[in-house]
Amino acid sequence: MIARVSLEIALRKEFDYLIPAALAGQVDVGSRVQVPFGPRKMLGVVTAVAEESGRVNLKPILKVIGAQTLVTPKVLQLARWIADYYCCAPETALKSVLPEAVRKEDAGWRERLFVRVLPVIGEMSKLPKRQQDVWNFISERREMPLAELVALAKTTAATVRKLEDCGRVKITAEVSERDPYSRETILPSQPLVLNPSQVAALGKITAAMDAPPPTADASAPSSTFLLYGVTGSGKTEIYLQAIAHALEQGKGAIVLVPEIALTPQTVERFKARFSSGKLQTLVAVLHSHLSAGERHDEWHKIRQGRARIVIGARSAIFAPVEPLGLIIVDEEHEHTYKQEEAPRYQARDVAIMRGRMENAVVVLGSATPSLESYANCKKGKYTLLELPERVDDQKMPVVRIVDMRQAARGDKGPPIFSPQLKEAITQRLERKEQTILFLNRRGYSTSLQCPKCGYVAECPNCSLALTYHRAEQKLSCHICGHSEKVPSVCPNEKCRNPAIRFAGTGTQKVEAILGKLFPQARIQRMDADVMKRKEDYRRALGDFRTGKTDILIGTQMIAKGLHFPRVTLVGIIYADMALHQPDFRAAERTFQLITQVSGRAGRGDIEGEVFVQTFTPFHPAIQCSRHHDFVGFYEQEIEFREQLKYPPFSRVALLTLKGRNEEKVVFSAEHLKRELEKKLVATGPDRRSAGTAGGVANLLPAADMFADAAAPEVRPDQKMKNLFRDLVIAGPTPSPLLRAENYYRYQIMLRTRAMSALSRELAKIVQSLALPEDVTLAVDIDPASLS
Ligand code: ADP
Ligand code: ZN
Repeated sequence: MIARVSLEIALRKEFDYLIPAALAGQVDVGSRVQVPFGPRKMLGVVTAVAEESGRVNLKPILKVIGAQTLVTPKVLQLARWIADYYCCAPETALKSVLPEAVRKEDAGWRERLFVRVLPVIGEMSKLPKRQQDVWNFISERREMPLAELVALAKTTAATVRKLEDCGRVKITAEVSERDPYSRETILPSQPLVLNPSQVAALGKITAAMDAPPPTADASAPSSTFLLYGVTGSGKTEIYLQAIAHALEQGKGAIVLVPEIALTPQTVERFKARFSSGKLQTLVAVLHSHLSAGERHDEWHKIRQGRARIVIGARSAIFAPVEPLGLIIVDEEHEHTYKQEEAPRYQARDVAIMRGRMENAVVVLGSATPSLESYANCKKGKYTLLELPERVDDQKMPVVRIVDMRQAARGDKGPPIFSPQLKEAITQRLERKEQTILFLNRRGYSTSLQCPKCGYVAECPNCSLALTYHRAEQKLSCHICGHSEKVPSVCPNEKCRNPAIRFAGTGTQKVEAILGKLFPQARIQRMDADVMKRKEDYRRALGDFRTGKTDILIGTQMIAKGLHFPRVTLVGIIYADMALHQPDFRAAERTFQLITQVSGRAGRGDIEGEVFVQTFTPFHPAIQCSRHHDFVGFYEQEIEFREQLKYPPFSRVALLTLKGRNEEKVVFSAEHLKRELEKKLVATGPDRRSAGTAGGVANLLPAADMFADAAAPEVRPDQKMKNLFRDLVIAGPTPSPLLRAENYYRYQIMLRTRAMSALSRELAKIVQSLALPEDVTLAVDIDPASLS
């Protein structure tokens, strides 16, 4: 027998190996194996097993890793789809489906040595003093870990071994499982009595779970649901009860949550329902804060079928749950579901594909669905389930839009706090209620500028202004981490003005000014600068929960998942920030962010109030957030997307070229563009693609990236005519962040409905493309952002 093996290097090729007699029966599709490759030994995954190979002189497999096949055939199939659709080497996709800790040969269960007292047979010989002391110690306790015995009896392992030699004790290696949550005590929870909209939603989900596997019949009910309900409307309770249904069916479930929402509280809710009490099902947790060992053990609990419920971040979608009944993607609109390195997959979309392959029901949940998912409901591809109200009729917070243009008038410049927000904070402090302030920018000031000559301190490696961090008295780059001392005079040789100024506001400055305005307030800042370790985060949240803090200031880190009943005020310091990004999703992001941050207010008995400070008060993203009007926002935004043929009316592929020499990058981008046109677009007298007219000299600024929509649509080649007739090729343009870490970046954007077909063509084009050695190309299908 021979095995076809995909090695861990991206060769886009598989190799045949002999299965030696000694390993017969141990090698199967999905096995991890060690094989010889040239002079080296390498790890790989068996993708097929066959009677014979077309090649001769095969080398044998050296070793099988793990007692079980690590990649199940279903996950293997999923990895193949990822390689195809996301345009990456199959080896790269395969690598991402196994956690590093499972893939590595030496990773394994942690074995600990235990010492056990053996039954005494016959006369006991007299022991030397030191052994006798140890014997006295262990014979009382009967058994204990070797390490503990050595420590407590103040002895050495060698002495204990001598006791073993004379037959008094036995030392054995035993697996001891690492449980990242072993220290928490979790009280069991019972299913709640659902309200009518919850009953309706759960009913549809369980009906789909009970339905027979769909046939080719197109009228079969959809098994993907979008659960659209405001924060606090009881979505999680529905997830819990749907999972219980999967367990009753003898199936398992995967729950995806954004990394940032994987707080101990979230995990606890799932463990409380399933791990304690009568169900006693293990809930495995997979996320990046686990140690390699913990991750190994959690993963194997799933593979062995002991844990049937998995809760985790993005990559948990590959968990080997079998059979799989249900996949939940909470906060489905979150862009952190997109992996930003190869394979650049979108876990929500992978979830839908996996659901289809394994006939599992998929539930996407959100208070602010992505435009794509909501559009899929309108098209009938997904079923929309709505939870229109908060549980217990809690009211939605009152959202007040503060026009900062007015606050800025007459004054020296716009203040950080409008009079309205200041007044509201004062009230909260008097009433002993809590406040959350949100600003998605850390640091003190966002730039250092000379008012006389206009000099701006920029990172030497990136095209980005340096941020001022006052506590450390330094300027630092948030892209590459470069940092330097703050100059005391303008660094411009010809200027040397001592009155250089800092502009823009970061969380540090909000904290400082707030401290001056409200010296009596207890303030806690939460951003990447202060929250360096997991304990910092836990402590800060703990202090806020117990009321030791009055005001919490934070970035993205505090935008979601937090539930504090005493918070009655939320202030968004600068709501327009995300709006000015050169990205077609800028408005969608802004709407989502405001809605989410607002959701932190009024989760207790007292109604919440939200102040949204903005310079563009009439923008739809801001106006609609005022009434929590997702549908209103959707209707306005979808029109813009349709006109410009942006998702959901097309899919986007972003090709980014990167290199240290700008000219070479531009030249390569132009070359790639011509190749794309040659292969995908028919040439003809009246046919041209968008955005090329002036060549490099006329590169569009990135902010105008959507301007090409008005240009005539490109026409495809005869052969692919039907597939790519809607293809738009835009660019090359400089990436929004042109230079980062000394690399220049230019991009080409492709838009079409036929993305699967385009991905296949792109793979061919990319492989045959001859790029200069120091220029690299990244292909991103369905990019989360255009920068
Ligand atoms: P979401 O996931 O939509 O934010 P949750 O499921 O967390 O909502 O529900 C919000 C709160 O309401 C939680 O404390 C939850 O225990 C409670 N809750 C949910 N459903 C019910 C119900 N049917 N009856 C009573 N309380 C409920
Ligand atoms: Zn930099």
